[in-house]
Amino acid sequence: MGDTNAPDRGEDLDFAVARRELVDALRQRLDVSERTLSAIDAVPRHAFVPADRRSLAYADRPLPIGHDQTISAPHMVAVMTDLLEVDRGDRVLEVGTGCGYHAAVLAEIVGPGNVFSAEYVPELAEAARDRLRRLGYDVVVRAGDGREVFRDEAPFDAASLTCAPTGGIPDAIVDQVRTGGRVVAPVQRKGALGLGGRQRLVRLTVREDGVDREDHGGVRFVPMR
Ligand code: SAH
Repeated sequence: MGDTNAPDRGEDLDFAVARRELVDALRQRLDVSERTLSAIDAVPRHAFVPADRRSLAYADRPLPIGHDQTISAPHMVAVMTDLLEVDRGDRVLEVGTGCGYHAAVLAEIVGPGNVFSAEYVPELAEAARDRLRRLGYDVVVRAGDGREVFRDEAPFDAASLTCAPTGGIPDAIVDQVRTGGRVVAPVQRKGALGLGGRQRLVRLTVREDGVDREDHGGVRFVPMR
């Protein structure tokens, strides 16, 4: 057997076909924009998942990425990306880079240099930074707490959390989003600790004198640290 990491053309084609089928299925199932779907269609998810999970890269399910963390299912990335309502040129803060997949999807929409992604686990941050660069994505990745590490880059047009804070979206993040901008995050109910606890997907729109809050249903994410 050869190097399992070496890309081969036949395999790339199979992946492209599987990806197109995934996007078609998402189009049937979800109420998301074509812009979001083309971003999903453009990103090689198989290059973000561990080599031994590659055959599952285009199944609509979350996958383990090491360090007890997971890459979200494609439909969740599509829904969250769509809720952010970002355009080319918008600057986006992502909290929870993980393997970098969601950051790449966002970068397809907002363009190079506009995604600022924070990852708490240094090894994951470094691996994602290398992977994104190798795949041609100009995403700024920093290791550390997403509440703090990109303060010097604020204000952002939007913020996306892929880990769940408890009790509500931290002010430290909302404060870094401009008036009129959006924050999308899974929020863990207070007192419901752990992965089995109840989480809701929440979208905030930042107003001059507070925030508008919408609930977008039950979700399950790793906790924010
Ligand atoms: N969007 C990712 C999935 C990330 S899983 C992808 O596409 O792969 C959530 C990530 O959030 C984990 O990697 C976890 O380490 C990270 N995380 C948890 N708390 C954090 C914090 N306070 N700041 C930054 N990252 C955090």
